[in-house]
Amino acid sequence: MINLEVPRKLTTLVDQARQAAMAFLRPNSRKYDQAEHTYPKELDTLASLLDGLSASGGGAGAGGVRRSSGKASTANLSLVLGTMEMCWGDAGLLLSMPRQGLGNAAIASVASEEQLARYKGKWAAMAITEPDTGSDSGAIRTTAVRDGDHYVLNGEKIFVTSGERADCVVVWATLDRSLGKAAIKSFVVDRDTPGFELVRLEHKLGIRASDTAHFRLDNCRVPAENLLGSPEIKPDQGFAGVMQTFDNTRPLVAAMAVGITRAALEETRRLLTEAGVTIDYDRPANTQHAAAATFLEMEADYEAMYLLTLQAAWMADNRKPNSLQASYAKAKAGRSATAITLRCVELAGSIGYTEHELLEKWSRDAKIMDIFEGTQQIQQLIIARRLLGKTSAQLK
Ligand SMILES: Cc1cc2nc3c(=O)[nH]c(=O)nc-3n(C[C@H](O)[C@H](O)[C@H](O)COP(=O)(O)OP(=O)(O)OC[C@H]3O[C@@H](n4cnc5c(N)ncnc54)[C@H](O)[C@@H]3O)c2cc1C
Repeated sequence: MINLEVPRKLTTLVDQARQAAMAFLRPNSRKYDQAEHTYPKELDTLASLLDGLSASGGGAGAGGVRRSSGKASTANLSLVLGTMEMCWGDAGLLLSMPRQGLGNAAIASVASEEQLARYKGKWAAMAITEPDTGSDSGAIRTTAVRDGDHYVLNGEKIFVTSGERADCVVVWATLDRSLGKAAIKSFVVDRDTPGFELVRLEHKLGIRASDTAHFRLDNCRVPAENLLGSPEIKPDQGFAGVMQTFDNTRPLVAAMAVGITRAALEETRRLLTEAGVTIDYDRPANTQHAAAATFLEMEADYEAMYLLTLQAAWMADNRKPNSLQASYAKAKAGRSATAITLRCVELAGSIGYTEHELLEKWSRDAKIMDIFEGTQQIQQLIIARRLLGKTSAQLK
């Protein structure tokens, strides 16, 4: 039976993540929101601390968890719980954390044992999106052509989180466009590989501490052993290999949304209390101050996104297929984080809109949680397909 209590053995990890968020992330939140594209050097100390947490089976960040055939674990749960705490501190800074990139989650998901050992300790970003392809990731155009013991990559990748700062980027490319999604493979490309050119960094609405890069791959030669997993094209398995990554990363993005939302709710509660508004859990919401009633409604929504996120992680830890639950969590958390943080700005009045508080920042940061790793609409599409038993060709 599913148990959504935080296991006692993880409470120390959650406490440590909270302490780290309080000491390193929250105090630097505004600084790196304003100093976009400046590397947050304070993170180097914290990254070493996180490496320690990861080595002990816990952690926070997008590092990802390997799904082996072994016994149930709490690895995914500890990762989402740690991520919630860190994003309570600052989501943009967490996304800038060395060795915790989305590419690390891809490596954890699909790499062979030998590759896993080879990329240990590397910081890996993830490049799926292209100028003509975002949501429809099966339609990517970047090509990989075998040439002796190398693959030659050509194409363009945009919106690569941590692309400038990471050691390497996991690039999705197709071995043969005529063979459809099954021919899409992921390749680890070292940042200093000739032909892998940084075009520019984006200026963004939120998570401004995190760098977002645009790359061009121009006859970029990558050793054949950098193809993650098997080079074999298995049409019957379709997209299965690379899509496993999303089962790992969507609960993490949901966890990021949970962390930001909790930060905004806590701050709003403080401001409401200061303004003399009492939130009473023993009285019906419709008999209370309108702000208190709104707050209770937002907390109920928060609880739902939190529990759905734990469910998706728990299922992965217990070796159960979690694609549907990962999309439930991502859809609910992305949408609620966006709505709640904006409503917190509203409840706080004009101060919520100013830089005196972090509320306006959290409302900007939250929006990306409903976009990357599959937008709100795409999560709903995936959920509908799974519930109705339709294929991607039948329901677009
Ligand atoms: C800050 C930031 C960081 C990012 N980091 C990364 C990263 O590290 N790696 C990476 O590969 N990508 C990254 N992305 C890209 C992100 O994953 C894409 O932006 C996202 O997948 C949407 O793709 P798109 O922007 O091309 O929008 P589109 O796919 O063009 O979609 C536009 C709109 O149409 C909707 N839509 C699309 N198809 C359908 C449909 N079938 N039914 C209903 N509605 C639909 C979408 O939901 C969206 O609202 C990042 C983006 C941002 C902004």
